[in-house]
Amino acid sequence: MGISLDILCRSCGWTETFRLGMGADIRLAQVAGLAAEDQRQLLSTLLKAHPDHAGEFEFRLWRCPACSQLVEQLHVSLLYGNGRHWESAHCCPMCGAPLLRLEDPEEVTALPCPQCGEPLLEIETLEFWDELQSDMQPLP
Ligand SMILES: [Zn+2]
Ligand SMILES: [Zn+2]
Repeated sequence: MGISLDILCRSCGWTETFRLGMGADIRLAQVAGLAAEDQRQLLSTLLKAHPDHAGEFEFRLWRCPACSQLVEQLHVSLLYGNGRHWESAHCCPMCGAPLLRLEDPEEVTALPCPQCGEPLLEIETLEFWDELQSDMQPLP
C-alpha cells in the first residue's frame, strides 16, 4: 500500500501532492512509463528482453540539495539476466543536480520551502492508495 501526502508551506502557501510507496497489485511494467524520461526507454528494453526479471520499485520522495525542489520519482532496482543489476538514477528536473532521498516524509518539516525558502513546511493530509491512478500508463 502506498501513501499520498499534501505538503504545505505555512509561509507562502505553496502546496503539492506527493505519492509514495506502491500499490499492492501493481506490476513494474504498469508503472515503468513513469520512470524518469531519460531512463524509460532503457527500462522498457530491459523488461522486454528479460521477462524473468526480479525487481523492486516504488515512488520515493527526493529533495534537491542545490535548489530545494521536492520531487516524487519512481525508484527501480532491477535484477535481470545472469546476475546483472540496474538501478534508476535521480536528478533534479529543475537544475539537474543529483537528488537526495527523504526516507521519512516528516523530514520535510526541517527543509526550506521550494518556493520561498522558509523552513515552514508541514504535512497537511495523508492518505493511503492501492489502485492504479489514471496517469499510470503502461509502456507503449
Ligand atoms: Zn513557502
Ligand atoms: Zn535542483
